[in-house]
Order: sequence, then C-alpha cells, then structure tokens
Amino acid sequence: MSGTLLDVFNGPDAPAGDDLATCVHCGLCLNACPTFRVTGLETESPRGRIYLMTQWQRGQLPFTDELARHIDLCLGCRTCEAVCPSGVPYGRIIEHGRAEVERLRSRRTQPAATRALARGVMRELLPHPGRLRAAGRLTWAAQRLGLTRVVPAGRGLPRLRRAWRPPASNRAPALGSRRARVAFLNGCVMPVMYRNAMEASVRLLQLAGCEVWFAPGQTCCGALFAHNGDLEEARRLRDRNARAFGMEDFDYLVVNSAGCGSHLKDFYPNLGDRVRDLSEILVELGLPEAQRPVPVRVSYQDACHLAHAQRIKKQPRDLIRAVPGVELVEMQHADICCGSAGIYNALEPPMSARILEEKMDDLLGTGAAVVVTGNPGCQMQLDAGLRGRRSPMQVWHLAELLVKAYDQ
Ligand code: SF4
Ligand code: SF4
Repeated sequence: MSGTLLDVFNGPDAPAGDDLATCVHCGLCLNACPTFRVTGLETESPRGRIYLMTQWQRGQLPFTDELARHIDLCLGCRTCEAVCPSGVPYGRIIEHGRAEVERLRSRRTQPAATRALARGVMRELLPHPGRLRAAGRLTWAAQRLGLTRVVPAGRGLPRLRRAWRPPASNRAPALGSRRARVAFLNGCVMPVMYRNAMEASVRLLQLAGCEVWFAPGQTCCGALFAHNGDLEEARRLRDRNARAFGMEDFDYLVVNSAGCGSHLKDFYPNLGDRVRDLSEILVELGLPEAQRPVPVRVSYQDACHLAHAQRIKKQPRDLIRAVPGVELVEMQHADICCGSAGIYNALEPPMSARILEEKMDDLLGTGAAVVVTGNPGCQMQLDAGLRGRRSPMQVWHLAELLVKAYDQ
C-alpha cells in the first residue's frame, strides 16, 4: 500500500531527531551489518535505515509498506552501534523506529498480518508462565509423535522436558560463605525450553556464594515486545516487575539471557545499574576451584545483546578457558548475528536463513564438538542450523558447560 506525506513519522514513541542526527553517514558500520553483508544493499544497512527514518521524519519520503520492509529486516542486533565511531544509539533508534512503523501500520486497514498475529500471540503467552508451561507440554507431546519435525519452526526446538520452576521457598542458599544476595530473573521461555541452563545458572550462583531470591510475581521482562515495536506492553511488564523486585533488597539482579539482560539495563531506570549478566557476576565473585576436568573442544558464539548491547565478550571466554580440559576454538565472525534475533527467524525466515548459513560455515570450520552461547534464541537458531547441516555438534548455554566442572 502506498503512503502519503501525511503519514508523518513522529508519533509519541518515534525515534528522537537528535538520535538520528548523530549519524554522520561515514559507512564504517556497513560491513559489520549482517543484512548488508548478505545483500550488499545500502537500504539493508544501518546508514540506509537511519537515512530512511530521517527522511520520513522530515516528511521528505512517503511512508509505504515497501519502504517499511527495510526496518522489518533489521535484526536489531546492534553490531552497528558497537562499531560506530559517532556513538549513534542505534538500539534506541530501531526500538522506537519499529514502534512508529507499527503505529503507522495500525492506522491502515490491513496492518502487516504476520506481525500483528505475532504481537497478539506474544501478549497472550509470554507474560503467563502457566500458559507457557501448557504450550511446552503440548510441544513435548508433538515432539514425541514426531510432529515438530514436519514444521520448519519446530526443527530448531530443543527436546523438551518438564519446565523449570523456582523453589517453593523462592530462595536458594549460598553454598559456603555468603558473598552476595542476588535476585534472579526467571524469564519466560527459558524455563520451558532450557531447564538444564536454568538449573545450572542457579547452581553456579550458589557455588559463587550467592543467596538467590526468585521474586514472586515477576514476569517476562518485555524485551521481545520492545524489540518488536510493542513498547506499550513492554512498559506494562516493566511496571509489574518493578513492583515484584521492589519487595525485598538485593545486591544484583542476575540474568542468564542476553536479550533480557540488555533490555533490563536499558529500559528499567530503577533496576538497570544492579543488573548483571550471569557471566559478569561469576567473574566478579569468582567460582571455586573446579572439581573435575571437562575434556571438550568448544567454540563460542557471542549473543548480540551480550557482545554489542552490553559489551560483554571477555567474561564468558575467561570462564570457558578456566574450565580444565576445555579447548576454546574461536570461529570467524563469532560476534556477527546468527539470524535468530528474538522472533526475527519466525517473521523473516528467508533473510534469517541466509545469515544462518554464513554462521554455519564459520562454525563448522572450527571442528568443535560444542558451541556455547548465552541466549535462548541463539541456542535454538544454532541448533536448527546444525541439524540442517546434519552436524553432531551440540549447543550449550554457558552455564551448562561451566557446571559440568562441579556436579554429577
Ligand atoms: S551509524 Fe555510525 S558508523 Fe554507521 S554510517 Fe552512521 S555514523 Fe557511520
Ligand atoms: S541492528 Fe544489526 S541488522 Fe540492524 S542495522 Fe544494525 S547491524 Fe544491521
């Protein structure tokens, strides 16, 4: 559908003109951008997207569905932000740009159907742990019947088992002397999809001397909503979490999912400075000496929202190297997005698949037996890519690797 210059790109959640003006069009971000790397198109680059939003805001280009696709195709990976010498706050720009695109689309008779459907499903599912667990049980049954293999989206799913839940007391004691009291983000999909990673994360915190508190009443942090232009729901969830985590005192709020940690740091003014990624806190407090070696060759995939949004690259690698027996083999372009980007792989399958293929080439070149990462979306995407290539390589959350040096 074509638009008119009356479709002005300056609603209440639109990107600030000052943010857009920080781009000096130098192009130094282009080769770091996954969508530019696979298409070679300026329109699929950070510079092109900033230019488009600036033109919309000035009323110099009409808002059309065709042009809006360039915003849809951005992964929100923030690699451009990390390499930009001018300090362009691209994460904030694209989050607000998406919200504005969705607002303008919703004024039309036919908003983008897939995106509208995804928004509805996410609102009905992610903030409701009971519904998520029920969806997990249905998926588990479908997996046992072999049904998930026939749906492309089902092939990347891990083998599900019973969902993780916090202890009934909502507390886990420090093992040894207590060094910190931390709150833990239970998250939304992680407990259903990655029970092992949740158990391992809590265990490692205890081993590092943390008393862990699981705030009752906490819910999905809202990252997936904010990254997909639903800032209204993201704010609602932020208010709920602010109340839940405000019930008791704690030193740090620990998060084991890169996308959630980045969102909490950026979007929660009263909590943000106490938020720590699991790898940050484990390095800060230190783990006890390993009890046994873990003889395995691993490669590490930087989750975008850890490497670029939180600028955490060293800590996970230091933790991996500290495990006796582990050989860390770096892959080429480890900090380039795998194409998962929240629900991007479901919304934009062709572009996601092109980016994933590049990632598989780099990853399989390492000869590793395991690839380690720190975000559920990356885990699923890498798993799907490896299965597509019929590779036996396994995908582990960082916590799953580290905990093997202690328990069992
Ligand atoms: S976003 Fe930054 S690196 Fe990219 S063109 Fe603009 S100023 Fe240059
Ligand atoms: S966020 Fe990622 S995909 Fe989007 S413009 Fe920046 S580098 Fe490219």
